[in-house]
Amino acid sequence: MTLTRRRLLGFCLAVLFAIAISHPCGGQAAAPQPALAQAAVPAPANPQQAYTLPPDKLAKAIALSRIRNILSIAGSIWGLAVLWLLLATRAAAGLEGWAGRVFRRRWLQGLLFFAVFLVIITLASLPLDWFGQHVSRAYGISVQSWGGWFGDQAKALGLSLLIGAPVLLLFNWIVRRWPRRYWLGAWVVTLPLLVLSIFVGPLLEPIFNKFEPLEKTNPALVQQLEKVAARTGTNIPPSRMFLMKASLKTNGLNAYVSGIGSTKRIVVWDTTAGRIPDDEVLFVFAHESGHYVLNHIPKMLAIAALGLFFVYWACAGFAAWLARRFGTRWRLGGGDGASALSSRAGFVVLLFAISLAGFLLEPASNAMSRHFEHQADVYGQEAIHGIVPDPQKTAVAAFNKLGEAWLEDPNPSPFIEFWLFSHPSVQQRANFAEHYDPWANGGHGEFFDK
Ligand SMILES: [Zn+2]
Repeated sequence: MTLTRRRLLGFCLAVLFAIAISHPCGGQAAAPQPALAQAAVPAPANPQQAYTLPPDKLAKAIALSRIRNILSIAGSIWGLAVLWLLLATRAAAGLEGWAGRVFRRRWLQGLLFFAVFLVIITLASLPLDWFGQHVSRAYGISVQSWGGWFGDQAKALGLSLLIGAPVLLLFNWIVRRWPRRYWLGAWVVTLPLLVLSIFVGPLLEPIFNKFEPLEKTNPALVQQLEKVAARTGTNIPPSRMFLMKASLKTNGLNAYVSGIGSTKRIVVWDTTAGRIPDDEVLFVFAHESGHYVLNHIPKMLAIAALGLFFVYWACAGFAAWLARRFGTRWRLGGGDGASALSSRAGFVVLLFAISLAGFLLEPASNAMSRHFEHQADVYGQEAIHGIVPDPQKTAVAAFNKLGEAWLEDPNPSPFIEFWLFSHPSVQQRANFAEHYDPWANGGHGEFFDK
């Protein structure tokens, strides 16, 4: 899985709330995540700056990073504001009443309520998404036509209605069924849903992008990848290696591993394979393999499970307080906090509480993610040792390509990195790679003896 753009809690809360609300399987690279850029990168002059950009790109990267950071924070706050507004304007209560008049059956009322709710949430975030896409095109990263982009939005909305509305209905039912301990029931249901979403993710990706067997398009690269797969024991046969036609949409670079069990696969973007040297693709592949070999997915699931237990418990308390405080004004119906929350509109209060928790916990989940990403970097560099001539050079070159392709700021503010970055900055990753040589003086690696 692209741990790159997954945040631990964010991702988990996503399944609950957002399997639906955001794009279910990330139709395209949501957050530019470092992977690789172009050939003409000047040699690093300063030993502390293994990642550098030519002056024109540097100016662009700084400007673009600022916009991205603002958009990211504004998007989170706007998402919260929309939920609050739905409650405060009594639109949620009104929608519940309307759905009740359209259908007689409760579950149909619920499906209708959540479907309209998801459409509203999607439309509300559209202007920011549109602006993000506009900026991405203006800076030459996205090459997708507006028709294609709106088509993707529509598909994402369709999926969100298909999957998200029933999931929300299920959770709403749990609240109604166990008004006191619903958070425990919701927690129990979330865990298998998380695993299922990782399993199903790759099966949904072809809705957004075209895939071809990598063996057909890049046979030489496949041979090389198999060497890394053998050394790392990842057991991914060539039939599970795919080329994604990312070039139809973006100039960004990426490669990732996704799925679980029988859906596990390696995907290399066609903007990466063939455009950067195979050795560097191997490094990216080795990094992704590290996530698998080091069991990052089960570990993150375990941490998420533990974290969500407390998050759900705390959110239940906070939502009950909100319902007592504002329930009458918001026309939630019901008496005390718990029963008000079991209405459809009351469920929106819970979604607000969980979204708020997700926003506040983003730094914590990102810190954990950065830890795992760094481990995967170490693993990746060790895994290509003996396969490429100079792992340090290969890794540094790959990070430079990645940073340049996505126009990553070489010197992001530490606060922004702390709050928003699911990966260490490209600069930190490149600096580390440049100096990481465990085999010097007869030593051995952290994960490989030779
Ligand atoms: Zn990673």
